[in-house]
Amino acid sequence: MIIGVPKEIKNHEYRVGLVTSSVRELVSLGHQVLIETNAGSGIGLSDSDYQAAGASIISTAKEVFTRSEMIVKVKEPQAAERAMLNEGQILFTYLHLAPDFPQTKDLIDSKAICIAYETVTDHLGRLPLLAPMSEVAGRMSIQAGAQTLENSNGGRGLLLSGVPGVEPAKVVVLGGGVVGSNAARMAIGMRADVTILDRNLDTLRALDVEFQGKAKVIYSTHEAIDRLVPDADVIIGAVLIPGAAAPKLITAEHVKQMKPGSALVDVAIDQGGCFETSHPTTHTDPTYIVDDVVHYCVANMPGAVARTSAFALNNATLPYVIKLASSGYKKALLDDPGFLAGLNVIHGKITCKEVAEAFDLHY
Ligand code: NAD
Repeated sequence: MIIGVPKEIKNHEYRVGLVTSSVRELVSLGHQVLIETNAGSGIGLSDSDYQAAGASIISTAKEVFTRSEMIVKVKEPQAAERAMLNEGQILFTYLHLAPDFPQTKDLIDSKAICIAYETVTDHLGRLPLLAPMSEVAGRMSIQAGAQTLENSNGGRGLLLSGVPGVEPAKVVVLGGGVVGSNAARMAIGMRADVTILDRNLDTLRALDVEFQGKAKVIYSTHEAIDRLVPDADVIIGAVLIPGAAAPKLITAEHVKQMKPGSALVDVAIDQGGCFETSHPTTHTDPTYIVDDVVHYCVANMPGAVARTSAFALNNATLPYVIKLASSGYKKALLDDPGFLAGLNVIHGKITCKEVAEAFDLHY
């Protein structure tokens, strides 16, 4: 199959649909890969790196779209990219269609086969193509929290680990799923005093076994949160109720009770945030202060570490790209109900219930 990778054009997006190692795997299976010039330059992958991996470098996005049977991207196609999609072409990328009617309409009109990373499921119903970004965001949240505690950022001047003779900072992680468990691993590694709260007992049991007493693992109730918040130095918001806005577990009243200079890192901000005082921020201006508490609420945290994120995403997407390229989309999707769940739009029809319901359309 001929697989095309255009350079991402969304503002501040440096990731790329296929990294060089993925190109090499696909080429070794007999596929042809077309890469738009400079597609990987933002993460240190040059055109000559791609050529060495077996790709052909193409000078314009238009030519990539015209010549490819499948387009592999990272971000949802922008209007200019949607205009270049062709009937029967496979598009494999993050789409997030439900809140985006203009994109949904253009994808219907394109008659392309549009498969969204974020709705692919595995045999346990988990979201394998979202998990790598949660791993990145979870790990990064502790870096963000540590920086936020520094005096120059309005923090209370604490080193997460403390030093011999001075106690470590207290880190509370709300939610022990992919983001929360990765945050806890980093916080424990940095020798902070770590407490994780979750509502899923199986999750708490697994964390208890993994951490062997290096973190306190607590059932998440309002009482537990009321008790832990005033004493916390950093709180990481990592809860998710699938398909719903994040619950506001930390209220404005809680924030007033926190120590001046303590830090709130709301990773769940992309679902509305789990702190009442949160609002989305960007990497250029990541923090703001409410009642002397520093808030970090960046909605696309993995974007700041685009090289790690692109390779992590490719590790998860490559097996699916190979299935589409080697078996054709019909067999690849029909053989795997979880992969089929990724199909959002095909030949002008919506095939994702949530997207159809969002716009009152048939599916
Ligand atoms: P996940 O499903 O793996 O984990 C969520 C956890 O929250 C689950 O273990 C669940 O039991 C727990 N939970 C639900 N209600 C709770 C409550 N009241 N108290 C305590 N725990 C509760 O989800 P995830 O992959 O870890 O993602 C977490 C959030 O981070 C999501 O909103 C996701 O979209 C977001 N995220 C943000 C970024 C970013 O850049 N800001 C990046 C990746 C993920």
